[in-house]
Amino acid sequence: MSRYIATRAIRGANALVKEAELMLNKALAEKGPDTKVSFPNTAYYLPLIYGMTGIAVEKLSDLQPVVKHAKILLHPTPSESHWTPYLGETLDSGMATLLAAEAIEAIRFVYGQQPEPIPGLVLAGGTSYPSLDTSENGHGGHLNGPIDDIQLRTWGIQLVDGRMPGFAAIVGAAKSNEVAVKIVRELQRRNILCFLSGNVNGRSIIHQLMEEGVELGYDTYTVPFGTDTISAIYALGFATRSALTFGGLKAGQAREILLYNRERVFAFVLALGEVDDLKYAAAAGAINFGFPVIADTIIPEILPTGITRYEHVVSMPFNEIEGADDLERAERLVQKCIEVRGVKVKLAEVPVPVPYGSAFEGEVVRKNDMRVEFGGKHSRCFEYLYMAPLDEVVDGKVEIIGPSFDNIPSQGHLDMGIIVKVAGRQMQEDFEPVLERQIHYFINGASGIQHIGQRDIAWIRISNNAADKGFNLEHFGKILHARYHADFGAIVDKVQVSIITEPELLQQWLGKARTAYDYRNKRLADLTDDKVEEFYSCTLCQSFAPNHVCVVSPERLGLCGAYNWLDCKASFNINPTGPNQPIRLGKVIDPVKGYWVGTNEYAKIGSHGVVQEVSMYSIMENPMTACGCFECIVMLIPEANGVMVVSREDPSMTPAGMTFSTLAGIAGGGLQTPGVMGVGKFYLLSPKFISADGGFKRVVWMSSVLKDMMAEELRAVAIREGDPDLIEKIADERNVTTVEELLVWLEEHNHPALMMEPMF
Ligand code: SF4
Ligand code: ZN
Repeated sequence: MSRYIATRAIRGANALVKEAELMLNKALAEKGPDTKVSFPNTAYYLPLIYGMTGIAVEKLSDLQPVVKHAKILLHPTPSESHWTPYLGETLDSGMATLLAAEAIEAIRFVYGQQPEPIPGLVLAGGTSYPSLDTSENGHGGHLNGPIDDIQLRTWGIQLVDGRMPGFAAIVGAAKSNEVAVKIVRELQRRNILCFLSGNVNGRSIIHQLMEEGVELGYDTYTVPFGTDTISAIYALGFATRSALTFGGLKAGQAREILLYNRERVFAFVLALGEVDDLKYAAAAGAINFGFPVIADTIIPEILPTGITRYEHVVSMPFNEIEGADDLERAERLVQKCIEVRGVKVKLAEVPVPVPYGSAFEGEVVRKNDMRVEFGGKHSRCFEYLYMAPLDEVVDGKVEIIGPSFDNIPSQGHLDMGIIVKVAGRQMQEDFEPVLERQIHYFINGASGIQHIGQRDIAWIRISNNAADKGFNLEHFGKILHARYHADFGAIVDKVQVSIITEPELLQQWLGKARTAYDYRNKRLADLTDDKVEEFYSCTLCQSFAPNHVCVVSPERLGLCGAYNWLDCKASFNINPTGPNQPIRLGKVIDPVKGYWVGTNEYAKIGSHGVVQEVSMYSIMENPMTACGCFECIVMLIPEANGVMVVSREDPSMTPAGMTFSTLAGIAGGGLQTPGVMGVGKFYLLSPKFISADGGFKRVVWMSSVLKDMMAEELRAVAIREGDPDLIEKIADERNVTTVEELLVWLEEHNHPALMMEPMF
């Protein structure tokens, strides 16, 4: 352990804890001890403090024991003569720094100083603070501040399925704007999440990226926290919540939470520019989590001990990195970070003239930046994938039939059909829709290309920037060819793509495609639980929630909404030892509640003995467990003899007296909780939705966002249930937020649940 680093980290920690104490005392005097303290849209209070100490901070006075605890962790700076190279003191100081930093941010929230305002910033993909977002009107915006729970879950899924290999906490400012952009692009290209904070002499990488017009926000995997070092605490709050949400750990299990992160969260700190005492102290905090620190300046290194299996601190002075120019040096620097932390990146080489990767999926191409569009208001775009015999497919062939967009005026439009013909020994007709749906993600991965929708309502935009770099119609085919091979190589041996703009042929193919869509719709409607011999397991989330299994049947999709029975079947064929295994049903034990010999046996094995039996169709008896990724929470309202359904997109208060975030803490964690269940939103439409407990008629309250999003489908369900006005009888947050109000509403609207037999 270097005395230099220890000295500076300990000094930095002492200063920050002092600052936190002063701020707290001032706030207590000015605002009063009972003033509420919270980060918005999270059920985890101040998450790092909550995880590390178990203290649920709700008011200013709750911060007093936190600051006291931080003070205990402090050590005097090492003296010149008596210094034992002891890592523990540095790590303690690091932890003290983190506690103090989070306390300071929380106090800043009390004073309305967080999230930090910054003129002119529009975040891509929304923000946790819609009320603050005046940037659209040109009044200037604000940085993101802490990540909300909804986003945590979305990224959680991506971290589980490997789409997102890890995260980088970038602190400081790069040598130049050009280098800043390059570093972020290199990380985005690998789908590594970037958290941005800090500055060097007042200049932050956030300024650098904004000046260069880089889109920042949730949708582009680049989240600007704040222009000071303290805001980097939000990255560690995110890491702490990952362990609580997905690892099933409890507040206060500090050691376990830190170990969980070391083992499962592939994160690192990239310190750009001069490192001051506070940065050393914060870095020492990150090392507690097993996150190494890579600096682009000269600092003494810390070699592996027990905390990380690799170097704790790596110095890679930027100007000494080998490379022809700064851009190459930036690339090497990123590679080094990935190596040091052992981040597992899997990348398909996609031959297109623009950057490519999942981080670009969320990019928006605005009308003004648009070269041409296909679909949308003025034209038609459709996509159709089908299988053909092996000898009828020429692998890698991409043909363009009809004119390109060269002669279309800027911001114009064109009709286009994308026809993908695939062949493979393991390919099945059932996989066609699964593969076809990927076109959206694959095409969206290209920077400067926007893809929305599917089937015959697809809508694609090419930006001026992408067109200037040479992106043309052929590249759609190149992308699809490369990605199908990379991601579905086990079932797809050959891929051929036709891009059709020639009007007559386009109409012909549109007809064929629509026939196929209809056929698939019918096939899906006919595919019921009693028509198959096997369901599928999904254990993808076990890397976060070790005992959770989703049992996926034709009439009940995975609770994250991302995997239905066909997806799981395809996934099993792609990867026979992967997370989706067939569950042979065997003898039926109870067809009403949904028990089979096979599902029960699997539940035991899959949950490592935690769950003994699982009912497919009941929320009251042995309901399915949940990890944390559910789209909705279904919960019993005993007084109403029914259930409420809360969408994760609904931040408002529910009749259960809790918001979605709070409920999520009860529903998740891989435990069976009768009366509470996490589900995918499409399960609500299934005839098997809690059918053992009375089915959809039990729904007495539902977030309005679900009513709007699935209006047509819900109307069909109401008719199926023999009560066409049922949806209007269901309350939502716009009219009912307490049980008392709910009961009045149900009486007034004559809701059927009141007449049904008692739920328990
Ligand atoms: Fe996780 Fe279930 Fe979705 Fe699989 S289906 S990814 S286990 S939530
Ligand atoms: Zn999950």
